[in-house]
Amino acid sequence: MKPPRVLEAAWTWIDGSFQTGVQIEIDEAGRISRCGELGIDTNRSLADRALLPGFVNAHSHAFQRGLRGEGERFPGATGSFWSWREAMYSLVERLDRESLYRLSRRAFDEMRAAGITAVGEFHYLHHHRVRELDFAFDDVVLTAARDSGLRTVLLEAYYRRGGVGRELTGAQRRFATPDPGGFWRQIDELTATLDDPRLSLGVVAHSIRAADPGEVAELHAEARGRGLVFHMHVEEQEREIIDCREAYGRGPLALMTERLAPGPEFTAIHCTHSTSEDVGRFAAGGGGICLCPLTEANLADGIPEFRQLGESDVGLSLGTDSNARISMLEEMRWLEYGQRLASGHRGVIVDSEGACASRLLDCATAGGAAALGLDAGRIAPGCWADFALIDLDHPSLGGWRPETLLDSLVFGGGDGAIAGSYVGGVSE
Ligand SMILES: [Zn+2]
Repeated sequence: MKPPRVLEAAWTWIDGSFQTGVQIEIDEAGRISRCGELGIDTNRSLADRALLPGFVNAHSHAFQRGLRGEGERFPGATGSFWSWREAMYSLVERLDRESLYRLSRRAFDEMRAAGITAVGEFHYLHHHRVRELDFAFDDVVLTAARDSGLRTVLLEAYYRRGGVGRELTGAQRRFATPDPGGFWRQIDELTATLDDPRLSLGVVAHSIRAADPGEVAELHAEARGRGLVFHMHVEEQEREIIDCREAYGRGPLALMTERLAPGPEFTAIHCTHSTSEDVGRFAAGGGGICLCPLTEANLADGIPEFRQLGESDVGLSLGTDSNARISMLEEMRWLEYGQRLASGHRGVIVDSEGACASRLLDCATAGGAAALGLDAGRIAPGCWADFALIDLDHPSLGGWRPETLLDSLVFGGGDGAIAGSYVGGVSE
């Protein structure tokens, strides 16, 4: 039997601070078996590096990487989420298996380079041949994820309607799931193909626009019974709240909280226009919220006004969503900066000691891992050996001290400060 591998960086983020002299033993399966001062001679294998838990990207639509650089000109009129959505639908009409693979691979490779070691791929683009509902695009994304070596939770999306009370039209028909029974058959077929410990599945109701409350409740109950995480776009746009109130008498978040009793398995994506009261009730049951600050800025969604999130226990995670930019460092800093700009206060998203960067890192690591149901996001025995490597000589970190290293990285670190990543103990 091969001896276990041991890594030792100059500094390792463990239990909320950078520590030196930490050795990490990795077992054959790619999990951390032991870490700490193990008394093993490693020659300090990573002498000019710091080691962080790998970033967990809790919300991505990889194919939207194909829109980068598109739709940023606005002759004659300003754009909106809804005009962007038309551009996205036009991309959807053009994709086939090869181009979807290329775009997904590009997005996933870029994530690895950005220190992201796990992704929740919120996947609703299912079909090549619309009439046959062939689900020909699902395995393409899994193949791209496997080839990029990225730990991936394929969050398979249920998408039945084209808006509250409306039929699917045009490009939306590529997203169609026939009914809950047909949806679960596809989940079972995908599950049978999974042959890599880095790949797993979760369940999505795309949004209250795409599934009615009874369907969402049924999907959620089945997902919970199967031990699968459940994600849903919630209240990114005011129009969705208005339509939902008209149809069902409540906004989506209040409606879900009342009807589903969501727990930690439920992650609401965005909550941009959610009220503090609705967020409080949802979070009290254990539900988590995933924010995507760069996409929410790019799409002019708005800034959520829930200052108490920084002070409460609500589980926050981060996602690169539309992949207009793939940088967890920027997602972290803009999560806080958005709140500063909106509130006029500094230090909104902070931990129990008032530290901003460590709370933001927690959102980008342990928070994401919780949202995806992964043993990841921490450097601790039993967790996957998924790490982001930091180049301590990078000019953007110049002048760092052990006490300020994380703050320097989160608020000032350039992309080049990420020197690589490990997934399951394997470096890229
Ligand atoms: Zn999304």
